[in-house]
Amino acid sequence: MTADLPKPKLTRENLREAATLISYLRPYRGILVAATAALALSSLLSLCFPFLAGSLMDAATPGVPTRGPGWLPHHVNTVALLMLGVLVVQAASSYFHSTSMTSIGQSALADLRRDTYARLICLPMTFFSQSRVGELNSRLSADLTQIEQTLIMAIPQMFRQTLLLLGGIALIAMTSARLTLIMLGAIPPVIVLAVVFGRKMRRNSRQAQDKLAETGIIVEETLQGIFNVKAFVNEAFEIGRYGRSMDSYLRVALHGARLRGGFIAFIVLALFGSIVVVLWSGATLLQSGRITIGEMTRFVLYTAFVAGAMGQFADLYSQLQKAVGATHRVRELLREQPEFAVKMPGTTPAATVPRHALRGEVEFRDVHFRYPSRPEAEVLKGISFAVRPGEKIALVGPSGAGKSTIISLLLRFYDPQQGELLVDGRPAPSYPLDWLRNQMSIVPQEALLFGGTIFENIAYGRPGAGEAEIIEAARQAHAHEFVSAFPDGYQTLVGERGVKLSGGQRQRVAIARAILKDPAILILDEATSSLDSESEGLVQLALDRLMENRSTFMIAHRLATVRRADRILVIQNGMLVESGTHSELNQQENGLYRRLAELQFNLTL
Ligand code: ATP
Repeated sequence: MTADLPKPKLTRENLREAATLISYLRPYRGILVAATAALALSSLLSLCFPFLAGSLMDAATPGVPTRGPGWLPHHVNTVALLMLGVLVVQAASSYFHSTSMTSIGQSALADLRRDTYARLICLPMTFFSQSRVGELNSRLSADLTQIEQTLIMAIPQMFRQTLLLLGGIALIAMTSARLTLIMLGAIPPVIVLAVVFGRKMRRNSRQAQDKLAETGIIVEETLQGIFNVKAFVNEAFEIGRYGRSMDSYLRVALHGARLRGGFIAFIVLALFGSIVVVLWSGATLLQSGRITIGEMTRFVLYTAFVAGAMGQFADLYSQLQKAVGATHRVRELLREQPEFAVKMPGTTPAATVPRHALRGEVEFRDVHFRYPSRPEAEVLKGISFAVRPGEKIALVGPSGAGKSTIISLLLRFYDPQQGELLVDGRPAPSYPLDWLRNQMSIVPQEALLFGGTIFENIAYGRPGAGEAEIIEAARQAHAHEFVSAFPDGYQTLVGERGVKLSGGQRQRVAIARAILKDPAILILDEATSSLDSESEGLVQLALDRLMENRSTFMIAHRLATVRRADRILVIQNGMLVESGTHSELNQQENGLYRRLAELQFNLTL
């Protein structure tokens, strides 16, 4: 939670980081200058207002000598008209400044969001395996919102309040040096106390939010897992857990109520008390004729300005501090090295990327591997094997043996710490990463379809493919029949907003996607749960078509699949323990494969 993060300091380095982010404002500098000028104008006009109010009072009081610049009108009506005029100009400049600042902030932020997303999605797998993606996502959106608030609100406000504070003090000092000193003596200590109080209240409200979020998590978890709650008859346990969490929220919330009550009492007593002191000394000066009623009015209004500005500074400072922290994290992300430079669609038409350009020869040479997030555990311990072009390999072994890890290395999500991976006789890192991955395709266990149309989902295999190619791929994947049966055909929406496809149908769409990509190397992660036999048959037919002329790696869970393979690699505990065809391996007395085969590769593999 944000409350646990160390408070960022406004160090020089942090400010430099913030400055880099401010560079996002550069494209909008023209309008930014105009908006700042409008902000300055509106602030200066705000400062005119108390002055004119004072003049209005003086003009209305008979016998008061007219003070102030000679060009100022001294008639009640003209002063009032002038005030209205000032207000109109101020309103116009405020409108201009506010709309343009917001649009600059939003546009700069949209650029920043685009860059951050582009950077994030291109980061290597190592990064994702070390960060919790959900947390990263919420952290990023919170950070970017913080930066947005600062760009749009805090920085312009800081500028405005500085002008009001300095201008206000200067103008009061011109009226009466004595009053200025009294005001500067009475108001700031009260403001400092108010800020301390405010900080306590903010901390409390953050704690309350965290506590409330905890109760929310309990509700979410139990509703999502309602099946388990009911099956284990744990209703009473969950009610107790929720109740305790609610109690602890209530304690914090009630403490907050006391704080808020205290704050209101404090404001009434201390802040208004100090205003009484200031007013009282003003009134004595007025009584003794040393200042006019108009000057008194100005003085009171300027005091309000100065007090307001002082009060806001603390708040703005803490916002700025938070934004610097947020900036730091965003900058850290922007500084991470991407896997490869992304070519945006349009710059390289998909058709020009050669497909099936490899022969599909793969060799693992004494590969040792540890996940960067768990360097103490060696997951692959010297794996060596070679796959001929077009050969179909089944990876078999108990759960956790390292089968998926071999696939991750093949896809170059990670590189081995020791040993080598060769593709078509050349070290895999010698190929451009995006090009190499384009030569591979994966049909995962759980085919993930995006919430778009079936057409878009197949086209994901090769963005830019034409309709005829998509339909041909679907035909080969035995998906065309069921897709055509939908009223909207290929334009049928899938996922939450559309049709829910069955497991077998999803698999066939995923296979069509892979056929469209036409890879040299194919990876099949076989679903552990079996499909019904009709669906299974169609998926198998589609897979057979897909595997033609391609080197194929299958993570196999079923005997029927393994039998289709040219060669079976049995992996155990990060090592290749057996290799051969089904019948060869099945003949090995006491072999791991034979034991697994006897178990019919059931789901406990
Ligand atoms: P299964 O059949 O259950 O999918 P598998 O043979 O594919 O198992 P892997 O997923 O390759 O096994 O896992 C091998 C080992 O590596 C396991 O001990 C696992 O805990 C570990 N492992 C897998 N992924 C990661 C990761 N991202 N970070 C750290 N360790 C991991």
